[in-house]
Amino acid sequence: MAAPLFDRVALIGVGLIGSSLCHAMRRGKLAGHIAATARSAATRAKAAELGLVDSMHDEPGAAVEGADLVIVCAPVGAYAGIGAAMSGRLKRGAIVSDVGSVKQAVIRDLGPAMPDGVHLVPGHPVAGTEHSGPEAGFAELFDGRWCILTPPPGTDADAVERVVEFWRRCGSQVEIMEPGHHDIVLAITSHLPHLIAYTIVGTATDLEDSTQKEVVKFSAGGFRDFTRIAASDPVMWRDVFLNNREAVLEILGRFTEDLTALQRAIRWGEGEKLEEWFTRTRAIRRGIIDAKQA
Ligand code: NAP
Repeated sequence: MAAPLFDRVALIGVGLIGSSLCHAMRRGKLAGHIAATARSAATRAKAAELGLVDSMHDEPGAAVEGADLVIVCAPVGAYAGIGAAMSGRLKRGAIVSDVGSVKQAVIRDLGPAMPDGVHLVPGHPVAGTEHSGPEAGFAELFDGRWCILTPPPGTDADAVERVVEFWRRCGSQVEIMEPGHHDIVLAITSHLPHLIAYTIVGTATDLEDSTQKEVVKFSAGGFRDFTRIAASDPVMWRDVFLNNREAVLEILGRFTEDLTALQRAIRWGEGEKLEEWFTRTRAIRRGIIDAKQA
């Protein structure tokens, strides 16, 4: 039997993404041993009960001991604390990666905690659902989806190549990107859509009771699709916005300008302008379907 890609992999966090990685690693025979930790005893017990891991540990330092690959799968606001907790226990030659939805802040928070001889290769699988926790994961989550890696300049090329291979064998396509570029691209493709969804659903929640009932009844008119996104994990998304502040504010500024332009077109009855806008945006949808990302 072929040797696994990594002898020992440690996961810090076993929620949706961490547990999906456990399933994908088992499917692809990528790890000889999966060690993990999570913040609460309840999550650690649940992950162990589900048989997701080979060993469960009380804290990050114990989990990463002897690991060849460490993947941080926690909300990005927890990274600085996790970095400090595991720093002294990392094996020389180990690779530290992650799955966080922002990348500059991850390098800021994990970078200083990396001892000499440990390679930091941050990553972001562009795949997810609105569900959280160790029971939410499934092996196919990453199939056909992109994983973006953002190694800082000068990162060991072999370490990057091993992480590329890891994600390929998890089913993903891999792209290498500069971290600042990642953060602006994701601000428009993921962070702004979530903010819009949270806004619309929040607005509906503030309506008077009688209208609110009808919002649910007639939600198939479009509202329903926003509620799925707005059901995403509140802590994860709080941390995304706090840690990608500049890129999100830049994209939000452009968005509000466009919104005002559309508002004006509606007010002044400029049908041609509206139709032209809606025709242009249809092409993006076709592009997503053609790229098999629908
Ligand atoms: P999740 O289901 O809420 O799981 C988060 C996990 O992290 C839980 O096991 C949690 O433990 C653990 N955790 C939290 N703070 C910790 C700490 N200080 N030390 C150790 N473990 C800690 O979240 P998720 O959806 O898997 O998201 C994880 C990461 O993936 C985030 O950085 C997010 O940005 C990124 N991501 C998410 C998606 C998505 O669609 N959800 C997609 C791509 C990337 P407890 O349960 O005990 O709190």
